[in-house]
Amino acid sequence: MLRSIIEAHHGRTGRAAAVPYPEPAMAILPIIITGNPVLHTPAKPVTVFDDELRTLVDDMYETMLAAPGVGLAGPQVGVPLRIFVYNYPDDEGNERRGVAINPELWISPSPVDEPDEDADSEGCLSVPGERFPLVRSQKALLRAVDLDQKPFEIEAEGWFARIFQHEFDHLNGVLYVDRLDLVYGRRAAKAVRRAGWGTPGNSWTPGIDDLEG
Ligand SMILES: [Zn+2]
Repeated sequence: MLRSIIEAHHGRTGRAAAVPYPEPAMAILPIIITGNPVLHTPAKPVTVFDDELRTLVDDMYETMLAAPGVGLAGPQVGVPLRIFVYNYPDDEGNERRGVAINPELWISPSPVDEPDEDADSEGCLSVPGERFPLVRSQKALLRAVDLDQKPFEIEAEGWFARIFQHEFDHLNGVLYVDRLDLVYGRRAAKAVRRAGWGTPGNSWTPGIDDLEG
């Protein structure tokens, strides 16, 4: 069922249909680019925890690492479900990766500072190759379940908290470029227009298309 959802969301440039069947153990999925309704519509809770969901998560990890990215949400691979993966090592370099299913997020009040072009520069695999500064809350508390429906929570700070806010936004149909202040918002809109995005049917595949370099 998920595979057909993925294919349904890919238009003329989507490559999902070219994946041989039966599928390989892990697959790099095409990443949907801004303009497709799946990215701009709230996602639905996961209700079925089966092997297909496990395969989806494996593929999402694979796709995120190949991009490369630090997070990837279901809608970005055409799956309108409340699920995201993340991969962000801590300050000591220890691996910190996981999947959050049906997450809730609490955040500290957002600072009122002006965005800093270096420190706050954010990017998104669905607006590939672009970065714009956005002020985010410094702290976030994530509560979600894993693939075994086991609840967990993670307190995050700094960039890790930013990743959770970014991915959680995806599940609500919000991209970071939707949150930019006026000046950067205009620049982002211009970049999207210039690239020919902003309409359904655009995607890119890590390892095939070089858009994040
Ligand atoms: Zn994103």
